[in-house]
Amino acid sequence: MLFSSYRSKLLVYTIAMMVLLAGSLIYTYSYVRNILLEEDDLHADIMAKILHNQMEAEEVEYQRYADIVAEDLRIKEQMFALVNGGTNSLPLKDTYNRHFGWLPISRYVVVSLDSNEILAGQENANLGRVVLAILKDNSRGTFYSYGDYGLELIAVSTIVYHGQRLGSIAMSYFMDEAWLLRHKRNSGGELFFTQDGIVLGSSTPKYIGQPFSIERHRVMFGKNIFFVRPVQLSPAYGSIPKVWFGLPQTSLLKRLEKHRLTTMTIIMVSLSIILFLGFSIMRNFTQPLSQLVKLTREVAEGSLPRLDKSVEKNEITELSNQFADMLQALREQQEEIQMVHAELEKSAITDSLTGLYNRHYLNDVFPKLMAQAGRGSLRLYALLIDLDNFKNINDTYGHICGDQCLQQFAASLQRVSRANDYLFRMGGEEFLVLVLSDDTKGIVALGEKIRLAIEKLEVSCNKEIVHFTVSCGISYAQPGESLEENINTMLSLADAALYQAKEEGRNRVRVDKHIQV
Ligand code: GH3
Ligand code: MG
Ligand code: MG
Repeated sequence: MLFSSYRSKLLVYTIAMMVLLAGSLIYTYSYVRNILLEEDDLHADIMAKILHNQMEAEEVEYQRYADIVAEDLRIKEQMFALVNGGTNSLPLKDTYNRHFGWLPISRYVVVSLDSNEILAGQENANLGRVVLAILKDNSRGTFYSYGDYGLELIAVSTIVYHGQRLGSIAMSYFMDEAWLLRHKRNSGGELFFTQDGIVLGSSTPKYIGQPFSIERHRVMFGKNIFFVRPVQLSPAYGSIPKVWFGLPQTSLLKRLEKHRLTTMTIIMVSLSIILFLGFSIMRNFTQPLSQLVKLTREVAEGSLPRLDKSVEKNEITELSNQFADMLQALREQQEEIQMVHAELEKSAITDSLTGLYNRHYLNDVFPKLMAQAGRGSLRLYALLIDLDNFKNINDTYGHICGDQCLQQFAASLQRVSRANDYLFRMGGEEFLVLVLSDDTKGIVALGEKIRLAIEKLEVSCNKEIVHFTVSCGISYAQPGESLEENINTMLSLADAALYQAKEEGRNRVRVDKHIQV
């Protein structure tokens, strides 16, 4: 199963935590951002509408100015005189300046469509031409036009006197820097005039000349972002720039945008912490567990590996430490068993009283020694040693003293012989020394050395000094039919020599008669 291990479960949990955290943070961020964007969009819509209404009010106001002038009797009379009397335009201008010079307009012109000429305001000839062109379709109304003075609002009204259409008066207002600033103050936003994607005019001059590209109702000038809405100028004469209202991105949104980096940092740091914690838990949790699983497998296979204890205190380390204790206890038990086993093995081949090998071990070691003799062109010599009149010692000094004599004899035998020699207690007070050698004389000398050493040996028992002697018979092993036969032949030849030694008065060394000394 894919998620059966705790490691994979933890991994899935960590990833789920990371996804949840990052997801919720990103969702919250984008949710707040969307709300703010919607708010700004809505605000921009409302503000653009208000601006549009203000401009409509301006159109009405200028139309009213034009109408007031056109309806003024003094103006009408002057116009009548001008049109019918052929007088010049100065009296008309005078009358206008005196009575209407205060009007907040940029310029005016008086034209006659019938004669297709400018009657007054010849200095504004270009305006006059525009007005004459407009008048071909309309008798009165407001229009937007774009010319040398930039964008201009033109209000036209017809001057009629006694049923005669004398001409038309057009008043205009430049939508210049002052106009832009006034509307910026009123709306709280920026205004832009654009043509072919370039800013021609703006309530903030630094944007003039900059590209104006709209993306999702937004325009960016460096770091400044505006939610823009078109403002319809109609009717328009000729081609005029587009007018835009731009609401600057709220400071709230700006602050949120600034916090994008903080949010990203928080996400990254949180993810790193979760990842780190997840991995360290995984390490702390699964590593000792998999180690324990591996160790139990090794134990099941028969070994008792070492497990270091941990100083950390948690459920897993407790389990691991207890397992380490268990392994230690098992190891100690195993060592004890091995020790007992070794002792048992040893006691199976040694004599408990003297510590020498027993008769049983002779059968085990004999083939090995014979093989060694064969390899080294040596002989396996047997020195069969029997304590003389030992019965008397037992009878005289007691059995315990007899045992002490046997122990002291064995110790002397060990001292005199060499490390490679094999020493056996064959039973009772009879001993065997097996030596690999090619020197019969040396072996006889060894027998003598033993004999003399025992002759000098003093065993103190019950405050008395006991002396005893030994007799020794020497033979060597020869290859025969079987192992048993070889041993028996070797022993019986040595026994014969020993018997001879006893016969000849004891405390002496005798060699098998087949051996040439
Ligand atoms: P010989 O010189 O002919 O060998 O005479 P011997 O008395 O040594 O021989 P014998 O075979 O008559 O007697 C052997 C004695 O050794 C008999 C027995 O009491 C004694 N003996 C055998 N094993 C032990 C033992 O383990 N401890 C003691 N204390 N005496 C033992
Ligand atoms: Mg004996
Ligand atoms: Mg004896």
